[in-house]
Amino acid sequence: MPVAEALSQTDHSVVVQRAGSRPPTVGAAQNFTGAVRVDGRFHGSAPARISGGTVTFEPGARTAWHTHPLGQTLIVTSGAGLVQHWDGPVQEIRPGDTVWIPPGVKHWHGATATSGMSHVAISEALDGKTVEWLEHVSDDQYRR
Ligand code: MN
Repeated sequence: MPVAEALSQTDHSVVVQRAGSRPPTVGAAQNFTGAVRVDGRFHGSAPARISGGTVTFEPGARTAWHTHPLGQTLIVTSGAGLVQHWDGPVQEIRPGDTVWIPPGVKHWHGATATSGMSHVAISEALDGKTVEWLEHVSDDQYRR
């Protein structure tokens, strides 16, 4: 559908999604290591294709390796975390830090071994998909 046509069909109401109005979802074991939950999942209405949520990792928890077809923005809100792209250094991330993961870059993110971490995660869908999941981050990879 052309953007102008989609815009004309858009509901013009501002949407406030109240905190806690939806139950959190739990990170699936095939895509995460350790305890991970997602609160406040949101998505825009077409023609927007933005979506995200607030992801909380317990100490030692992390995503599997993955890519985002149109990239991803992370905004760290609490704790201490780690992010790494394939063959890159593990970088520590702190509250207030923003992280841009470019389209198609293989990476993971999560908590440090001793501290939990929460971040807001925002991405745009391409052909309805925001993520391509790959293999788990091994303990050896995580400890580096
Ligand atoms: Mn990611």
